[in-house]
Amino acid sequence: MPTTVNAYAAHSATEGLIPTTIERRDVGADDVLIDIKFAGICHSDIHTVRGEWGPPSFPLVPGHEIAGIVTEVGSNVTKHAVGDRVGVGCMVNSCGECKNCVAGEEQYCLKGNMGTYGAEDRDGSMTQGGYSTHVVVTEDFVVRIPEGIDLDVAAPLLCAGITTYSPLRRWGAGPGKKVAVVGLGGLGHMAVKLAAAMGAEVSVLSQSLKKQEDGLRLGAEHYYATSDENTFTDLAGSFDLIINTVSASIPISDYLGLLSLDGTLVSVGAPPEPLPVNAFALIGGRRSFAGSMIGGIRETQEMLDFCAEHHLGSEVEVIPADKINEAYERVLASDVRYRFVIDTATLA
Ligand code: NAP
Ligand code: ZN
Repeated sequence: MPTTVNAYAAHSATEGLIPTTIERRDVGADDVLIDIKFAGICHSDIHTVRGEWGPPSFPLVPGHEIAGIVTEVGSNVTKHAVGDRVGVGCMVNSCGECKNCVAGEEQYCLKGNMGTYGAEDRDGSMTQGGYSTHVVVTEDFVVRIPEGIDLDVAAPLLCAGITTYSPLRRWGAGPGKKVAVVGLGGLGHMAVKLAAAMGAEVSVLSQSLKKQEDGLRLGAEHYYATSDENTFTDLAGSFDLIINTVSASIPISDYLGLLSLDGTLVSVGAPPEPLPVNAFALIGGRRSFAGSMIGGIRETQEMLDFCAEHHLGSEVEVIPADKINEAYERVLASDVRYRFVIDTATLA
């Protein structure tokens, strides 16, 4: 018997989200039922709802930064138990058999990972995300939130945390490495915290100096305004790694010029418009331009354990559900410090 639960949904690309109810499937043998406590608002939710990445299927309940408590488990479940503190990120299933899944990189499943919302589920229904009170997820796509990280500050780690942790690890952020983070929003502020905890020398490249004090408090040693033209001449050739978290298209070739010899610029920001690259910006410094998408389940658990060990969580502004539309406007205006998180008790 499916269960009806409260949620907030978009019904079109142009109207605000409104309260609604959705059906959650019965708890199958491999499933866990999660009582959602907090759900983060990611800029990807906004890109998706507004149709910037293609036409979504409505009604759509966004939310892929989910933190909550297990309240029921299926008969085959071994990884989680009733009462556990758990999280769910951007995907809720994958084929499990392709070489990428076997390697633990389910986000790159060759048959396509199943998104937490807006994807076709195995029973033909659409998956619906975390702006709701409960969710049923197969146990392999549920991770453990360590004691010591509160659930509200843990929620954003499930997307913003892993999306920045994964490329920082892959491209070797650590002692002796100069890392720049472009954009101090939800992803950007986690990139700063994580890169600093890994021991790198961190710089923030923000549109202005408005958030400089925050950036330094979060772990950056340097902070520059990209609106100041001198930034691009003064810092030419300086960074080993640049993580671009900007949600809009930026003049990427100018940023490539900031890389040292053999440096890499990784774009995790996913603007709908292209990021135009001038070949000379790559050639003149043997530079690389790369991308990265969230992280696998094993790496997501590793990231959460790393955060617990280093006492890291997200900086959040907890809001009631009826403030979701206002929060979207503030994210679009780069007025977020540094993640809005919905208290799902307000959906009752
Ligand atoms: P966010 O909180 O809105 O942060 C983006 C930041 O980019 C802003 O705070 C702002 O920082 C800067 N920015 C915004 N517009 C800009 C512009 N026109 N020019 C220059 N800088 C601008 O968004 P988010 O949730 O961190 O997500 C960022 C992007 O990553 C989105 O496109 C999202 O879809 C994508 N994403 C990708 C993945 C993945 O797997 N690759 C996962 C999650 C999200 P300043 O004020 O400091 O300049
Ligand atoms: Zn996200």
